Amino acid sequence: MNSQKVVLITGSSRGIGAASAKLFASKGYSVCVNYKHDQASALNVVKDVQAMGVKCIAVQADVAIESEVEGLFNQIDSELGSITALVNNVGVLQSQMRLQDMNAERINNILTTNVTSYFLCSKYAIKRMSLEFGGNGGTIVNVSSGAARTGSPNEYIDYAASKGAIDTLTVGLSKELAAQGIRVNGVRPGLIYTDMHADGGEANRVDRLKTKIPLQRGGEVEEVAEAIYWLASEKSSFSTGTIIDVTGGN
Ligand code: NAP
Repeated sequence: MNSQKVVLITGSSRGIGAASAKLFASKGYSVCVNYKHDQASALNVVKDVQAMGVKCIAVQADVAIESEVEGLFNQIDSELGSITALVNNVGVLQSQMRLQDMNAERINNILTTNVTSYFLCSKYAIKRMSLEFGGNGGTIVNVSSGAARTGSPNEYIDYAASKGAIDTLTVGLSKELAAQGIRVNGVRPGLIYTDMHADGGEANRVDRLKTKIPLQRGGEVEEVAEAIYWLASEKSSFSTGTIIDVTGGN
């Protein structure tokens, strides 16, 4: 039996995922860094993680595509051992606009990347962790967003709605898996300094909006990683279906 703790963090070549990879490594986990495009950044994360003395691999896979998710999990099985924790962290947004200007291609891309990927990775994690399939249990943490509560009007309702779906997934799946030794929880970050905002067309978005945050500042990726780690660890052993806001008071 593999007693080593193994975590897959989807979308961990940068941002919150990369910070989480380093935090889990510092706690002794073997880590799979997943990415879609940016191999150089993923390999930099791997270098930092390996420097902490734990095993780490980078696997390129578009987690919205089932065959790629299957390949990703098979590679983890053979190179790190079966996973004990899954952090569904991938999330994308596109240029700020009102719903009336969105087309189906954009909406479907947001929904498949932000929602289908969480369902697919959970499916392959369950097949390995669930008592029903001979596993030893485990944890799933879904990274949502404060946008699930605000709806992101005039900016990206599609993104916000995708995160609302993730909160519902967390609640439903936590109940579906409670008897199978798997806890499912979520984290809703607020405005965090990452490159994601540049993808939405406004690199300085956090600084523009930070005075509207009760704590009067944007969040750092490490502050989100702490909540993700706590929910994935045994320290949160009586929590499932819980969603933690890391939003500076918003
Ligand atoms: P980020 O810096 O934009 O990083 C996104 C990561 O996802 C990258 O590593 C990217 O890899 C990867 N990725 C994108 N599409 C992928 C796919 N189809 N398959 C595999 N990997 C893929 O994002 P972040 O700001 O750290 O956000 C992380 C999570 O927190 C997301 O779920 C986001 O919605 C949520 N969140 C962020 C904020 C914020 O203010 N930053 C606020 C609330 C919630 P490549 O670059 O290699 O493609």
